[in-house]
Amino acid sequence: MRLPPRNVLPGALAAAAVLVASVPAPASAAGSGGTGAPVAGTPTAPTAPSSPTGGTTPGSTATPRDERTPRPGTRKRRRSTPRPVLVAFHAKARRFYDLGRPARVVFRIDGRTRAVRVKLQVRSAGRVIRTLDLGDRATKRSHSVTLTGREGGRFPEGNLQLRLTARDSRGRGLRASSRASTTDSLGFYWHRFPIAGQFTYGMDDGRFGAERPGRLHQGQDLLAASGTPVVAPRGGVVKTVAFQAGGAGHYIVLRADGEDRSYVFMHLLDGSVRVREGDRVRTGQRLADVGSTGSSSGPHLHFEVWVGEWFGGGHAIDPLPDLRRWDAWS
Ligand SMILES: [Zn+2]
Repeated sequence: MRLPPRNVLPGALAAAAVLVASVPAPASAAGSGGTGAPVAGTPTAPTAPSSPTGGTTPGSTATPRDERTPRPGTRKRRRSTPRPVLVAFHAKARRFYDLGRPARVVFRIDGRTRAVRVKLQVRSAGRVIRTLDLGDRATKRSHSVTLTGREGGRFPEGNLQLRLTARDSRGRGLRASSRASTTDSLGFYWHRFPIAGQFTYGMDDGRFGAERPGRLHQGQDLLAASGTPVVAPRGGVVKTVAFQAGGAGHYIVLRADGEDRSYVFMHLLDGSVRVREGDRVRTGQRLADVGSTGSSSGPHLHFEVWVGEWFGGGHAIDPLPDLRRWDAWS
């Protein structure tokens, strides 16, 4: 480059010259005769007209632009052998639960080859936690896969990012069309809030440990309209379905899978119980409805959490910390 010697430049121009010098020059720029060539198209471009050599010549700006334009031959080859194109990819639900209904993920890939090898990457907190091989999948038709959250071991709780990748038989990778993205996200949680609908936590006398005549309140009362669905906080086996006129009314005890816990639901609406003893239920499955049967002053769910067996060596714990946590995502 024909830059004037730095010691004859005023300060500002000297700075500009340093900037120019720091930009890596394209290999062919040396022969272009331009002085400001490397700065064209870079953030330092506005300084070019003040160059003491008379500014950027038309030839010098044209050179780098030409270099960025793909050669005609390259474009032609790309057109005749297109990459597989992702035209649809998304999860059908925004969240799913451990031991619950699996999440469905749908996708469609178009392309010249009849099939592509598809993989689904699962990330948590920006880290890849699983890469699921979905095998060879036909192009030009919709596919649906399900996720239980236990593929290769239980996924961590929280937001998951999904990324779909695919390669055709020649190893060409996937390109997303303007209609689709190769990523989507959905939440995965180990428990669900036991009421599917509007509710409130009520007053202090509904808390765990509140005084009752001759005993302490062993659960948390959740106030909700009569008929609001009561659902399983976690999959498991129904241990007890019973009625106690002077106390719990219609009630259910659920022994959870994969953790040493029992969940108890009381004052359920007459005729609303949908499960029988011995049934295996999924997380989020409807068990009954909120009611006011037994010793109750109004519609609410009395909810207990026991470590171990309910009245079989276990003991009740305060459900409120878990309820508040589950409430954040359910
Ligand atoms: Zn209660």
